[in-house]
Amino acid sequence: MNALRKNIAEMAGYVPGFQPEDAASYIKLNTNENPYPPSPQVLAAILEEAGEGLRRYPDAASRAGREEAGKLYGFDPSWVIMANGSDEVLNNLIRAFAGEGEEIAYVHPSYSYYGTLAEIQGAKVRTFELTDKFEPVGIPERYDCKLFFLTNPNAPLGFTYSQKYIAELAGRLSGVLVVDEAYADFAEENSLDLVRSLDNVVVTRTFSKSYSLAGMRLGLAIARPEVIAALNKIRDHYNLDRLAQVAAVAALRDQAYFRECVAKIKQTRGWFSAELEKIGFHVIPANGNYVFATPPDRDGGKLYQGLYQRRILVRHFTDPKLAHGARISIGSMEEMERTIEALRDMGYGR
Ligand SMILES: *Cc1c(COP(=O)(O)O)cnc(C)c1O
Repeated sequence: MNALRKNIAEMAGYVPGFQPEDAASYIKLNTNENPYPPSPQVLAAILEEAGEGLRRYPDAASRAGREEAGKLYGFDPSWVIMANGSDEVLNNLIRAFAGEGEEIAYVHPSYSYYGTLAEIQGAKVRTFELTDKFEPVGIPERYDCKLFFLTNPNAPLGFTYSQKYIAELAGRLSGVLVVDEAYADFAEENSLDLVRSLDNVVVTRTFSKSYSLAGMRLGLAIARPEVIAALNKIRDHYNLDRLAQVAAVAALRDQAYFRECVAKIKQTRGWFSAELEKIGFHVIPANGNYVFATPPDRDGGKLYQGLYQRRILVRHFTDPKLAHGARISIGSMEEMERTIEALRDMGYGR
């Protein structure tokens, strides 16, 4: 097809984590999904909405969700935009800020989808490598880029940057610092205060992990009203369907259920990390709903294969910076117990 834009014809396209057709026959720890169901309030709200009213368009402004999120996080709704998954808002941030040939940046390793989105837009990508102490190397003292994506907690490694570091980084940028907080609900800190105090910080969140709603495609961003207004010009006007809108409101309202699920996952994460260390793995202190674990022989591919043969799916990255280990999502306690058993069966810890 000669009519294709050159960058689209030449790009590889993003490859999401493997979703097997018979997912129920695996212990599925490869895409950081939540092992617990969404709040019963969410299911009730969806069922109630799933009726005759679907013939009407949804609220183009997603007002109810923005108000609920604003109340929860302490922002006026004019600082909130709802998104069809946080991936949608990451895409629209690039479209809003980075023109063709302009520069966006992120840390390697982190979420490589930023690079894919930039490629589509024709923007330039610059990545900064991490030291052994998880400090990005070589970011200029005054850095002229349109957008800098900082995944915090880092995915897939799971460490966090301090708020002091994030504030300093924001101060060095001429453009916008996007803190991708897909996993912040499992961490001890977040950057919402920086959105309030600094004029170039944007926070993105997803309902896919901590709210067990990966299948609903829900995310949001919190930013200054000028930024939200720009993003509103770009998005599909009906970006959230009626079911997603009521699901978002119900999920945010049921904080008791949310806190209970997050607490269980954090507890399981602590147990699982300690068990991995007992059988000789190196585990990066985890702040998301996953651990990045390195087996004693530093062969992440073999680890992946051995677990796969035992019908346990984890995520192995062939990237040279990540190939020595694997990212293992935190499932239910029972799933993690069975994973440890499988690892012992594979010979680790002997
Ligand atoms: C899962 C994830 C997202 C995407 O979330 P969706 O809301 O499902 O689109 C964005 N960033 C990171 C770092 C993620 O892990």
